[in-house]
Amino acid sequence: MLSCLSRGGGRPLLCLWLLLLLPPASPHRLNQQGRRGHSARERPKLLLVSFDGFRWDYIDRVPTPNFNIVIEEGVMVREVENVYITKTFPNHYSLVTGLYAETHGIVANEMYDPVLNRSFSIETDSIYDSTWWEEAVPLWVSIQKGGGRSGAVMWPGSDVRIHGVLPNQYLLYNSSVPFETRVERIVEWFSAPKEVAVDFGVLYWEEPDESGHSLGPQSPLMDAVIAGIDEKLGFLMNELRKAGIYEKVNLVVTSDHGMAQLSPDHIIELDEYVSRDLYTWVDKSPVVGILPKEGKLDEVYSKLVDANPNMAVYKKEDIPAHFHYQHNARIMPILIEAKEGWTIMQNRSGHFILGNHGYDNTLRSMQPVFVARGPAFRQNYVKNSMRSVDLYPLMCQILSIPPLPNNGSLADVKDLLSQEPTPSTPSVPPKVNENSFAPAVGSFLGVAMVLGFLVFYIRQVTLKQLPSLRHRSREMSQPLLQDLHL
Ligand SMILES: [Zn+2]
Repeated sequence: MLSCLSRGGGRPLLCLWLLLLLPPASPHRLNQQGRRGHSARERPKLLLVSFDGFRWDYIDRVPTPNFNIVIEEGVMVREVENVYITKTFPNHYSLVTGLYAETHGIVANEMYDPVLNRSFSIETDSIYDSTWWEEAVPLWVSIQKGGGRSGAVMWPGSDVRIHGVLPNQYLLYNSSVPFETRVERIVEWFSAPKEVAVDFGVLYWEEPDESGHSLGPQSPLMDAVIAGIDEKLGFLMNELRKAGIYEKVNLVVTSDHGMAQLSPDHIIELDEYVSRDLYTWVDKSPVVGILPKEGKLDEVYSKLVDANPNMAVYKKEDIPAHFHYQHNARIMPILIEAKEGWTIMQNRSGHFILGNHGYDNTLRSMQPVFVARGPAFRQNYVKNSMRSVDLYPLMCQILSIPPLPNNGSLADVKDLLSQEPTPSTPSVPPKVNENSFAPAVGSFLGVAMVLGFLVFYIRQVTLKQLPSLRHRSREMSQPLLQDLHL
């Protein structure tokens, strides 16, 4: 039947007759087709790994043989623009939602929500309050609502019940759990019997972020840290091989952000310019969220705006549009952004670190590594640039699930794939009672298939005549949420 259709209209009437002669499709056949050729538990697999703070150019600094294997067997993207602010929680949530921080609501590692009158800090149990996370739907929730299974190891937000859902398999966050244990767990979940195996997994590791903060990215001591991450990647690949799933699992290795070198000579002390009595300091350096005391907005702003040439001070409504960082109540009325390499403190008694991130997401130092391999990816292919929000529609495509509205674009990254994407279909077909409705459904489907074929045939002929329209319609199908205000 497929070859008949693919001839594109040479003998449509013959095809029609052949279709009419086919036995009625059963509901079971419908299920299989609804999954685009994958039987109930034979879904595509994808493992997303984040090495926190792994800057894009770390792989050029020391030999990284395991990253090289992934690139030779798969793809690499040189320049990945992540989301503003370039902090851990906002970027990890963007990777699994395809949304800018202003839209998914995890706008910083430290937040205040004036509507809820609650505070969020990655240092406290406030992260387990679902309300913070429910402005978006992470991919594992969509997968499970679609009948798939997911597993999560320490990924920010993955041990929080979001829209009533926890990953099928997950570990509660505990930084003392070694990388190797994390890998063993997730490989176990992927290689479980197919009825319970996970389809999508997320794996998080705290390094090289921690060392980058304490040593500074320019420290020669970072070389060993980077080599150690490469070994960890090698361990992961080996575990996948040992489990016999290396060729089956699509592996994406990326990060949330990069790291910039700081200097004790580059410190901005806010106490020099404005009294602490006038504001609450909500988010920390290098992009500081300032909540002025009631009625003090203009006073605080005027004291800060021209105070120091190494920081930009914005009223919320004036934050540059390209940051996509404005339309959320959790973004504070005043935002101070330090220039790259500068640290903002109230005074020098604060804790100073040698490396940090959070700065402008267009700075190369803030951008993460990106490599991937597996059956869905091209081989030995290097792409120049993408945005981290594009990963979400790409993963949905690979996993055969419909993406929710997002800020990414599949069209911008589809060249990473080994096959040209086709429009995705819902992963869960409507439930049908096989016993009582099978004959009726079968007959109905027979007619539907004939009508479907005619529509397909007419469309093919039309599109052949209008190639430019065909291209445009695909572009326009990409959702744009840049103007979505929450
Ligand atoms: Zn960090």
